[in-house]
Amino acid sequence: MFLVELARGLWTTLKSMAEKPVTIQYPEVKRPVKTRFKGRHELHRYDNGLEKCIGCALCAAACPADAIFVESAENSDERRFSPGERYASTYEINFLRCIFCGYCEDACPTEAIVLGDNYELSFTSRRDAIYPKEMLLVPVPQGGAPTPQKTEPGVFTRSIPVMENPKD
Ligand code: SF4
Ligand code: SF4
Repeated sequence: MFLVELARGLWTTLKSMAEKPVTIQYPEVKRPVKTRFKGRHELHRYDNGLEKCIGCALCAAACPADAIFVESAENSDERRFSPGERYASTYEINFLRCIFCGYCEDACPTEAIVLGDNYELSFTSRRDAIYPKEMLLVPVPQGGAPTPQKTEPGVFTRSIPVMENPKD
């Protein structure tokens, strides 16, 4: 009996010696995350570059960790950040507080805040753990324009824009 167990153990060792190593050479190689992975937040834009965030602060209200701070300001056709009535003039997430529950994403009426795939979060001070809007906002898509944009009067009249990309 002892010999059988010994042979089984040795066989397991030999088998694993023939297997390909599973070590991933991070950070050069990154393991793909699962579809429902909740990583660092991103603030999304429409195809034309306008920001999806309308500064409603529903995400901050839904956050159980009080990690989000939003301040909003009025858009104008001369200086438009979002297709809504308002935009987030300040948007901050404190990643020392965040528990990555995704409630903010669920609460957002425009799908502006999305928990992405990025898990590389490291800070050397408390201040660095607070990500401002500039760090959360995704780059302007190809063909879009940066914000603020000058837009035609009367095109954007809704407080909360419809979910599809604006037609202009
Ligand atoms: S993921 Fe959860 S804890 Fe983190 S900011 Fe969103 S609601 Fe708050
Ligand atoms: S991210 Fe969404 S819920 Fe939060 S302020 Fe912007 S529009 Fe409102």
